[in-house]
Amino acid sequence: MTTQTLQTTSFLTDFRSMSTFGATPGGGVDRQAATSADGQTRNWFRGLVEGHGFEVRYDQVGNQFALLELVPGAPYIAIGSHLDSQPLGGRFDGAYGVLAGAHAAIRVASLLTSEPQFNIAVINWFNEEGCRFKPSMMGSSVFTGKIPAEQVLATTDPSGTSVREALEAIGTIGDFSLDVAAYLEIHIEQGRSLEDDGLTIGLVESTWGANKYEFVVHGEQAHTGATLIADRQDALLGASALVVAAREVADDYSTDEHMVITSCGEFNVFPNSPVVVASRVNLLVDVRSTDAAVLAAADAELHRRVSLIEQRFNVRISQGASHIWASKAYDAAGLALAASCASALGLPHGVVRTLAGHDSTNMKDIVPTIMLFVPSAEGISHNEREFTSDADMLAGVDLLTEVVSRVVAGEFVQP
Ligand SMILES: [Zn+2]
Repeated sequence: MTTQTLQTTSFLTDFRSMSTFGATPGGGVDRQAATSADGQTRNWFRGLVEGHGFEVRYDQVGNQFALLELVPGAPYIAIGSHLDSQPLGGRFDGAYGVLAGAHAAIRVASLLTSEPQFNIAVINWFNEEGCRFKPSMMGSSVFTGKIPAEQVLATTDPSGTSVREALEAIGTIGDFSLDVAAYLEIHIEQGRSLEDDGLTIGLVESTWGANKYEFVVHGEQAHTGATLIADRQDALLGASALVVAAREVADDYSTDEHMVITSCGEFNVFPNSPVVVASRVNLLVDVRSTDAAVLAAADAELHRRVSLIEQRFNVRISQGASHIWASKAYDAAGLALAASCASALGLPHGVVRTLAGHDSTNMKDIVPTIMLFVPSAEGISHNEREFTSDADMLAGVDLLTEVVSRVVAGEFVQP
């Protein structure tokens, strides 16, 4: 076999091996953060990269760093994504990027043509998905100084297990820290624009702004039969109105140029009994847009609706934690470098925006960052049917290899 064929075979073989951890009957994976399935995937990844000469370290919140030293003492070019998944998630979300990063690093190290200026680190960020422990992008948020480590370590899952306990149970916690000069990430698009436009590679220009809120609707527990309608303070009714209001805000505030996307992704009813009017509902609502002014207007309308719902349905709505990510551009020089690499490889590419959050959303705030996408069939994601073809995955690894080799040679940032 030629070197190229060997590399192709080995990436796909490794991808298939990786996809067996936490595999679900529907063809997806369930690897929520710091569960045993996540721990198994992390250990498998450690074995894989150690076999290629990497050294593996963990920081205080379980971020996993695979280090490849090319220039002793030099700062690192980091390539990352995440191996954790949603419950009944897809095989590609995050995991593709971590494995692609490892293969790109291995290829760059074996094919070095010029004197490298940097070392390479492949990072598996802890808890990007934010389902077992909230919020999402937890590991990269601590790494970039947005959330204190102590707060994350004390965060508990619904059964009361803390992040610290869960990480200790899978043995992937340490005290490492890394000196990063630039960050690269490749991910599946999770949208359909590349597929619709017949492109293989998306060069991500900017993130959408996203405001995420934890709301609590407070009512009064009562008998579902014996309590007169006029006397009710039905938390479930108020929460349902809020879910509908969020959709109406998206419909009313989207413009031809700037879409607004809203969602309620989690909804917990108390006491959730057949003959009890709900006393409380906890729900999460998020509002996103590509444009800061459109997002602000939609957000203000959502909060105005909250007040109206309180009055109309005789409930009280409190707002708990909120997480705000402003719409922000990626590094323009990085975008140009990635475009030139894609052209050199003859890969059809275009500029896109990301609707979803990624660890690069955090990293771009502290170092120059390049974000790349490969297509998602029909835009399906956070779903067992998520799919990216072998050819598209391999094209992404080729592009990432080219970008990494030029960044390591000093074409993007200086040591
Ligand atoms: Zn992801």
